[in-house]
Amino acid sequence: MRRILIVEDEPSIAFALEADLRTEGYGVTVTSTGDEALRLARDESFDLILLDVMLPGTDGFDVCRSLRRREDRTPIIMLTAKAGEAEKVMGLELGADDYVTKPFSPRELRARIKAALRRGGDPDPDTFQFGDVDIDFARCEVRRGGKAVDLSALEFKLLTAFVRSRGRVLTRDQLLDAAWGDGVALNDRVVDNHIVSLRRKLEPEPARPRHFVNIRGLGYRFDA
Ligand code: CA
Repeated sequence: MRRILIVEDEPSIAFALEADLRTEGYGVTVTSTGDEALRLARDESFDLILLDVMLPGTDGFDVCRSLRRREDRTPIIMLTAKAGEAEKVMGLELGADDYVTKPFSPRELRARIKAALRRGGDPDPDTFQFGDVDIDFARCEVRRGGKAVDLSALEFKLLTAFVRSRGRVLTRDQLLDAAWGDGVALNDRVVDNHIVSLRRKLEPEPARPRHFVNIRGLGYRFDA
């Protein structure tokens, strides 16, 4: 049974989440504080953590930061307030896998949970296929409809980062780190320009991207 830790201080939301996820067949543990969440994550093992951002005391950001600092890679889905784009960017940059905006539909949340659990169990692939594109990571080769596509080294690194994080939003900073290396001070625009180029080379309709999707105010998401 897959085990989910819910960290939520609003009893009505915690209760509804718990009931819904139990019905779906998950093992569920609930806590209302960040400190207890950190203790539980250390002493027990969970397949996923649903983490409210706004908690009294140790908040969701602190919990996420602490977990990643101690190399805990459990997938984390942040529960964020409606208009909080800064919150979402911060959560993603601290290492959260995804976020869901309150009030969320149980159906959407279940889909996100399934996607995060699936990714969590996947090793990084040697090859990957989407649309008519085939990627061979070991050989750094990309083919489209069987024909070799010429990607720059940076484009290939970006593509690799996208495939590894498929289905989740990557901020421009995360993409800069992935392709150019940590701490490089470059304009975000550089990322956008390379994505335009990736779209031109790999999207069926570059002007209406289906795979390299811009998420307003946050960054980009790759959908296979
Ligand atoms: Ca809260």
